[in-house]
Amino acid sequence: MSVDCLFCKIVAGEIPSKKVYEDAEVCAFYDIHPAAPVHFLIVPKEHIASLADAHAHHEMLLGRILLLAPVLAKELGLGSGFRTIINTGRGGGQEVMHLHVHIIGGRAPRPM
Ligand code: AMP
Ligand code: ZN
Repeated sequence: MSVDCLFCKIVAGEIPSKKVYEDAEVCAFYDIHPAAPVHFLIVPKEHIASLADAHAHHEMLLGRILLLAPVLAKELGLGSGFRTIINTGRGGGQEVMHLHVHIIGGRAPRPM
């Protein structure tokens, strides 16, 4: 755990969140400022600052997070599809420096 990390505090239950999933390694909760009708975040419980800070030994963990995305999305009503975003670093628009995957859906997305 990183002491000054917002998402580490959410994982630890020190800051409230609307959790949608939790297991030993991974946690998912609704985004506090949703960009669409359904918007949640999947995070590793381990503090990894960004995708650029992940290492080879995180391969399984990253795979688990990606495989969890469609399962949770379907459970939360996004069976027809969803957008997946990982902002990486300040240049990638990342504001919270704890790796997270945005799962966004529930209305037609803007073309990329
Ligand atoms: P990013 O710009 O990719 O770092 O995204 C950070 C996301 O965290 C933003 O979409 C925020 O709305 C979201 N966020 C910030 N604080 C909280 C919080 N306390 N609970 C849930 N989501 C949060
Ligand atoms: Zn953290």
